[in-house]
Amino acid sequence: MGETVQFKCKCGYISKEIDEGVGFLEYKLNPNKEEIYVESAICQNCSEVIDINRDDKHPKCNICNGSKVISYNDSRLSKTTQKTIQCKKLILKKGIKTDEIENIFDDNLYTFENCNEVVPDKTYYYCPKCKKFLMEQIHVAWWD
Ligand SMILES: [Zn+2]
Ligand SMILES: [Zn+2]
Repeated sequence: MGETVQFKCKCGYISKEIDEGVGFLEYKLNPNKEEIYVESAICQNCSEVIDINRDDKHPKCNICNGSKVISYNDSRLSKTTQKTIQCKKLILKKGIKTDEIENIFDDNLYTFENCNEVVPDKTYYYCPKCKKFLMEQIHVAWWD
């Protein structure tokens, strides 16, 4: 199962479509019929978003053949913003002590309390063109 993604930056740069993941599509690329796990990466030689074999120790750029390639799995190449969401927490009603409870599934014992939770929001990727964290990953398609 894989996903075709594309990267779009606020500066106007749009990457080619990248087939991330592993699937039958990749078999024709590999003469040994080994499973190849494709992931997106950045080439610092030609400043493009490219796809590489995750298991390749020294990946080369498939556009310029350069070797200054860094996978987007590298945490230095992405930043995730956070947002606060409202949530509800199940708590014991006032006055009820845990050791007095006979049936923990008794709904009358509980009440909801509002709470805030900080969760990851959007992930921005380092753009090879403008060198800023303004690039977003866009889902194009799923494939087998
Ligand atoms: Zn390159
Ligand atoms: Zn950019």
